[in-house]
Amino acid sequence: MEEEKKYTCPHCNQPLKKWLCPPESSWEVDFQYVCFNDECSYYVRGWDWMRNKFNQNISYRYRFNPSNGESGPLPIWSKDALKNFIIE
Ligand SMILES: [Zn+2]
Repeated sequence: MEEEKKYTCPHCNQPLKKWLCPPESSWEVDFQYVCFNDECSYYVRGWDWMRNKFNQNISYRYRFNPSNGESGPLPIWSKDALKNFIIE
């Protein structure tokens, strides 16, 4: 069996977690990789950014889609949001 590839976050260099896409999401893949490090600069900055720019109490985590190599923000509304979809 082929060993599973490990991905790391470009913002904090921590390993990304394999993350199951919620059924209501619009991504056409079963899983993606997400940085769930609470110290990640991308995530930490997100809170300030969204609060200052849009007056919203949300942030986002770094997300990587291995099927097409695309990455982007995964919006989250609390520290533990979406953590129940981690599958490793
Ligand atoms: Zn990170």
